[in-house]
Amino acid sequence: MGLADDGGLMVPESIPDVSDRLDAWRALSYEDLACEVMALYAGDLPREDLRKLVERTYGESYGGPVAPVVRVGPLYVLELWHGPTLSFKDVALQFLGNLFEYILGRTGGRLNVLGATSGDTGSAAICGCRGRAGIRVFMMHPKGRVSQIQERQMTTVLDENVHNIAVEGSFDDCQRILKSLASDLEFKRACSLGAVNSINWARILAQMVYYFKAVPEVREATGAERVAVCVPTGNFGNVLSAWYAMRMGLPIERLILASNENDILARFFTTGRYSRRRVHHTLSPAMDIQVASNFERYLYHRVGSDPVRLGELMRSFAQTGALEVQPEPDGAVDHNFAAGVGTVEDCLATIGRCWREHGYLLDPHSAIGVAVAERVYKNGAPVLCVATAHPAKFPEAVQRAVGRDAACHPAIEALRDLPTRCATLPNDEEAVRRFMMSVVTATDCECR
Ligand SMILES: *Cc1c(COP(=O)(O)O)cnc(C)c1O
Repeated sequence: MGLADDGGLMVPESIPDVSDRLDAWRALSYEDLACEVMALYAGDLPREDLRKLVERTYGESYGGPVAPVVRVGPLYVLELWHGPTLSFKDVALQFLGNLFEYILGRTGGRLNVLGATSGDTGSAAICGCRGRAGIRVFMMHPKGRVSQIQERQMTTVLDENVHNIAVEGSFDDCQRILKSLASDLEFKRACSLGAVNSINWARILAQMVYYFKAVPEVREATGAERVAVCVPTGNFGNVLSAWYAMRMGLPIERLILASNENDILARFFTTGRYSRRRVHHTLSPAMDIQVASNFERYLYHRVGSDPVRLGELMRSFAQTGALEVQPEPDGAVDHNFAAGVGTVEDCLATIGRCWREHGYLLDPHSAIGVAVAERVYKNGAPVLCVATAHPAKFPEAVQRAVGRDAACHPAIEALRDLPTRCATLPNDEEAVRRFMMSVVTATDCECR
């Protein structure tokens, strides 16, 4: 389930403290570690079944190691792009596809997944759901506003259960349509609607696991007590997973939140004021987001887990486009966070410099992270920068930064000549509703 029936998001009732288990967890494989972490929040799932799901997800078929840490000059980089669509979103969405199929198999149900993507979510969600029994996926993207490669990664998937929709609008328009359809309870029930957007709690959960792997690794390599973690951020999903891991006792010294010019979150963590502005289009499109859906979860914990206070803030934001929280007594917004903005120029300069100095190629999102970590973090703990995509997904940016097409990947090369399928719809909730109903009623007699 994505949105709860009251329009809010799911949060855990309590956050377990696992600090006394971290040493024992060092010996575990990624699969075993994932079982331990996820079982804490999945009491309704038999342990043996969870183990099978995790093994099916992160075993041979995953495509590469899930979350290797590499050293790049003074930094540690957590490479999360070894999955089938070459972005960190595979880590959670491959798991989610298996999880949905498992649950539907148990209940005999069906699920229509509706998603909105600014790029990477779409292909990762489609890849997580393609060909799975009982699942159909409808993925909206803003027409002409995702990269050629990202578009082809989605529209070349011809499985019968995959429906790409190009909406004539922005990513925020797609998200608005999604929110609105998902809060229409009658439609939601009639269509067995589910979400794979980063609001799905299972994604946040699956993403926690790699922090429990990587942070202890960097501690061991450096002898440091605590590690700063820098996350290039859009919808606040990935960094929220790190925040939960920190709350569970993982020794993270600071979360460094990196935004591009769409800096609503960076402004929040420096001023305490969350206020929307217009969307900027940058070289890091997965971060071209003004309203970060997962921020609401953080805010809930921030206001003392008080749903009434949260409701007030969210309503104020919906009405005025802004909300504000009380700073800490010393004026800081939150001591756990440092935040900063990387511009297009910072992004290009960082890709270029990292390539020249260390022979390491960053994608534009990961480069924003590295640029911000270097600028805003001076406390001295070792820094783990999250690399969220493979650079071959963004050849124009790489070309501009290093002067040639230095990034390639066989999975990207293979897309070039494949046939595609995609419906174009106006920027209109009704059009999307009608399209979905027509597909669902044409092929699915349970859903009238
Ligand atoms: C989705 C995405 C991000 C942003 O992650 P959030 O969880 O939305 O903050 C950053 N980089 C890449 C490559 C992505 O695909």
